[in-house]
Amino acid sequence: MLVSHLPNVRYLSGFTGSNALPLVSPKKSVLYTDPRYDFQAAVECDCSVKVMTGSTWTDAMKDIARKRYSRLALEAERVSHQQWLGASSVLGKAVKLAGVGALADRLRMVKSGEEIDLIRRSVKLASKVYEKAIRKVKPETTEVALAAEIDFQMRKLGASGPSFPTIVAAGERSALPHAQPMNESVGRDRLLLVDMGACLDGYASDMTRMAHLGRPTQQAADLHSAVLEAQLAAIGAIRAGVAASKVDEAARRSLKKRKLDKAFMHSTGHGLGLEIHEGPRIGRTSEDTLEAGMVITIEPGAYIEGFGGVRIEDTILVTETGAEILTPTAKELLVLEQ
Ligand code: ZN
Ligand code: ZN
Repeated sequence: MLVSHLPNVRYLSGFTGSNALPLVSPKKSVLYTDPRYDFQAAVECDCSVKVMTGSTWTDAMKDIARKRYSRLALEAERVSHQQWLGASSVLGKAVKLAGVGALADRLRMVKSGEEIDLIRRSVKLASKVYEKAIRKVKPETTEVALAAEIDFQMRKLGASGPSFPTIVAAGERSALPHAQPMNESVGRDRLLLVDMGACLDGYASDMTRMAHLGRPTQQAADLHSAVLEAQLAAIGAIRAGVAASKVDEAARRSLKKRKLDKAFMHSTGHGLGLEIHEGPRIGRTSEDTLEAGMVITIEPGAYIEGFGGVRIEDTILVTETGAEILTPTAKELLVLEQ
């Protein structure tokens, strides 16, 4: 199997650069890369390294053609049509190409102890940054400035950057689940949503917290407590052996009691690790089953057009008996500038 999706490359080989193709075979593995990574690959990988001077993809195929394999697997969801055609023209009829699904991605779903430690550190860093940055917010602070402050502080504490573009959305815009920060002040007497995570030593964290500038209205407080209840209901459903769809159902059932099920239009959560979104998927149609060692988010929300939205998200470790919430930050609606 020739692996091409970079997070899978990193997971299987240890290589952290931007161009490498590990060939995994029953006997021996080799990693193809280009001259920029000659030294780095030798340091990071245990397998043998072959440095290609032309197109890495084409040169790898030429090398594989010489090995007389009868079958070669490629990652079907990660290889372009062009790459597939190139591979079959170099390999000819002697080697049968097979597309495999998320084979390596599935291996990554259950984390090792070392990976869990890396995620814990990433989560702690993000929480530390959030708790500091949110206290400095004034009504005149812009969404963009708060997002920039968060990103800057994460870098200062050692993260390579945010694990995804930081979301800061105030007032009505908090009703947009994937809002982009605007160059507008966060204002007063409105909800403030911050969804952020760090990438530290390759591993992602992900959290969403809600603040309110000025005393919250009853509607804002009710919306927040409904979502918090749903989040706790979903967390309560987590345990090794449970279908991920059941966890999603727990959040929806809780919101339905408050007549807010229709205001929740995305999945309850996702796995995270080397990528910010990876398996398992915690959604209505998910066929994944939770296993101890999986790290997932639980992030139900309720979004009211013209008013605002609330989402509460933690990074969580699935255990044999339940769930360990890794995110240490308090989940209450944080009231600023009373
Ligand atoms: Zn998030
Ligand atoms: Zn998330």
